[in-house]
Amino acid sequence: MASALCTRCKRRDAVFLRAYSGEKLCARCFCRSIEDKVRATIARYDMFEPTDTIMAAVSGGKDSLSLLHILAKIEKVFPKSSLCAVTVDEGIKGYRDEALEFAVSSCRKLGIDHVVTSFKQLYGFSLDEIVKVTRKKEESGKGLTPCAYCGVLRRRALNLSARNAGVDKLAAGHNLDDETQTVLLNLLHGDALRIARVKPVLEDVHPKLVQRVKPLCRLPEKEIALYAHLKRIEYQSVPCPYAPRALRSDVRLLLNRMEEKHAGTKFTLSKSVERIRPALEAATEKTDLQDCLACGEPTAGKICQPCQLLRKLGIS
Ligand code: SF4
Ligand code: ZN
Ligand code: ZN
Repeated sequence: MASALCTRCKRRDAVFLRAYSGEKLCARCFCRSIEDKVRATIARYDMFEPTDTIMAAVSGGKDSLSLLHILAKIEKVFPKSSLCAVTVDEGIKGYRDEALEFAVSSCRKLGIDHVVTSFKQLYGFSLDEIVKVTRKKEESGKGLTPCAYCGVLRRRALNLSARNAGVDKLAAGHNLDDETQTVLLNLLHGDALRIARVKPVLEDVHPKLVQRVKPLCRLPEKEIALYAHLKRIEYQSVPCPYAPRALRSDVRLLLNRMEEKHAGTKFTLSKSVERIRPALEAATEKTDLQDCLACGEPTAGKICQPCQLLRKLGIS
């Protein structure tokens, strides 16, 4: 952008134009605004209590590492709270192993206890090995994508780690882009009621489930990337080799194009979901969770999703 003074401090040169608000921000005011936005999101959705023990899910990407840095800063002000981190190594050669190094070094620098767990350790197979088994089925149109396995098994792994660590909250780095993409994907899949589940604080519906919160859910991905860059946070920037090529990428493109032409589109979409969520929740039948007959973890059916997936592979 052409040189202009920061609209906040009116002293330093602006490095970023926030199109949806019209603000021009210098590096320092920009970073402060990001941290303030996270604080405001935490307060708005009552994400944490001052005495909470928090575990941050850290993949080694820009979102989760920025989240870790910001939470570490916020947590200092609350002496009765504590922060630790977890990384799930799905076993994606050349990708997660690199990301793990960034997660380990950030935690070390910040002095944060870090737990690493892996698919191999928990399920006996890495994602690479699972993909080998499923690839043929996927090609014939009958199997699931790597992300379908990865998402379900990672959620389980994160919950197990958080529960084992005895923490009160599990904080994830989902940003505004992730959330709005998921909303549109649910609509495009004909799963309108699932939109109600895209929310900043996921309900604590079972004593075995640690409550998940998303403190970055009101921050656009682009701004988190700039924050990480300005704060010199080292993160994994190479995309996952299994990254979805299909619908999510198209939806991402569509939303980014809309945002470019009509600044604020993603916020508007997110606000619309907030407004209709109560009606969607009222229309959704509540199902009581029970113990999975195979593993004992909470599930809406008889057999939980991770067990169903592992059975399909002949692993469980
Ligand atoms: Fe897992 Fe898919 Fe994400 Fe890769 S892109 S880490 S396979 S969910
Ligand atoms: Zn400034
Ligand atoms: Zn199970």
